[in-house]
Amino acid sequence: MFSRQPNDYLCPFCDWLSGNETEYKQNSDIVFQNDKVTAFISPKWWANNPGHVIVIPNRHVENLYDITDEELSEVYRIVKRVAIAIRSSYENCSGTSTRQHNEPSGNQDVWHFHTHVFPRYEDDKLYQNHDTKNFVEPRERKVYADLLKAYFRKPAGDK
Ligand SMILES: [Zn+2]
Repeated sequence: MFSRQPNDYLCPFCDWLSGNETEYKQNSDIVFQNDKVTAFISPKWWANNPGHVIVIPNRHVENLYDITDEELSEVYRIVKRVAIAIRSSYENCSGTSTRQHNEPSGNQDVWHFHTHVFPRYEDDKLYQNHDTKNFVEPRERKVYADLLKAYFRKPAGDK
């Protein structure tokens, strides 16, 4: 519904999940994965919110209008777990925010449904910083991926 994806679109998320790593999408970025969803450290960071996570359904679906209720439910079940993992693991993190975009007017730029989960800090100006996001190297992303992977490995009673 309200599709904006070009007919010949090569989806970067599907291309990665089918096995093609790039400097933007490395398997070491993945902090959680099951048969329905994948959560990974974003390759682009806003100035004051390093290490934010993107959660996607594994099946290609363009946007919020088309995702099934079951997929949406599973994506947000993991969004919740990722938010708690970020809040528990990132130094001085004192809040979290989620953002999800549809169509160009809604700032969508990858045509595969995704939800951002941000660590928040006092006075971090996340919403004023949309144009400050920059690509970060895989080794910088790995620091945050390792924190979240360690969190997800803990037994339930230790979280
Ligand atoms: Zn896709």
